[in-house]
Amino acid sequence: MLPYTPGEQPPPGKFIKLNTNENPYPPAESVVAAIKNAASGPLNRYPDPTATLFRRAAAETLGLPGPDWILAGNGSDEILTILVRGFVGEGQKLRLPYPSYILYRTLADIQGAKWEQVPFLDGWHLPSVFGEGDRDLRLVLLPNPNSPSGTVVPPDQVERLAASLPCPLVVDEAYADFAEFNCLDLVRKHENILVTRTLSKSYGLAGIRFGFLVAQPSLIAKLANIKDSYNCDYLATIAATAAISAQDWLADVIAKIKATRSRTESRLREMGFDVTPSQANFVWCTHPSGRHEQLHEYLKKNQILVRYMNFPDWGDGIRISIGTDEQTEACMMMIERYLQSL
Ligand SMILES: *Cc1c(COP(=O)(O)O)cnc(C)c1O
Repeated sequence: MLPYTPGEQPPPGKFIKLNTNENPYPPAESVVAAIKNAASGPLNRYPDPTATLFRRAAAETLGLPGPDWILAGNGSDEILTILVRGFVGEGQKLRLPYPSYILYRTLADIQGAKWEQVPFLDGWHLPSVFGEGDRDLRLVLLPNPNSPSGTVVPPDQVERLAASLPCPLVVDEAYADFAEFNCLDLVRKHENILVTRTLSKSYGLAGIRFGFLVAQPSLIAKLANIKDSYNCDYLATIAATAAISAQDWLADVIAKIKATRSRTESRLREMGFDVTPSQANFVWCTHPSGRHEQLHEYLKKNQILVRYMNFPDWGDGIRISIGTDEQTEACMMMIERYLQSL
């Protein structure tokens, strides 16, 4: 089978890294302090199998009825693995929009399941067939905001979509903290709407590996049966608990990233790019010259990593993660230099 290829992770320090949508800012000081403190904790013992500390704190922060609405995981990628393992059997089908998060296909392949890609319409709208399904359709995955586009399907449409489906709809909200709205409230109303979140992007903890699922308690209980016993380690659980409690820090960082995002979008447009308005911490852009792959190589030679993406039957382009103002401006200046050389 074909593996999922993650973005490049070079040794630290050499590159300005705008290729994997990490947070350019370090996590909250309270998180670092909690990890340091936990390092002298009971590391010889197995951790709490269900990360109760975290689930309590997250339920409170997110206004959920209780911790039994949350399943914690070793990154939201693990949560997605658990969902596919739980819902999609051999020969059965999962659906994803296209272009979106390619990992879903790999997860289906691991299960011996089939995947079905439904292309977005112009303007990144979902076609109505996205909500149609037969008996074999067991799971639909919708990244919202989507990657690579950064666009959002509004909650009322998500609700209608879920109502039309014969199976659960997973709304992958890896980037929801950067968006105007999210689907968390829909989970309470609809058993077949499940939301995944991660601490990797907005909370600046990609190196820690922590993500979670929000769904109705009956589903959470069943999915917990098929996870690894100790899927969240002690240090990660402590770090994630401190992070989800640092909401003032989060609000500051989100504001900074959104301000840089809006400057980046304008800069790219001034340079002639077609830029999709983003509700995430990255922007998707294409240039009339079509020289996306060459631009990516040029930036890499100059120690700037962005993501070149080529989607067969659809097209290619560049996805640029939002860094600090300085990092992003350095990237913009290098793009300018490249365009002048054409
Ligand atoms: C980054 C990302 C994830 C994975 O997050 P982790 O918690 O780091 O595993 C999931 N879904 C999408 C769409 C992402 O871009």
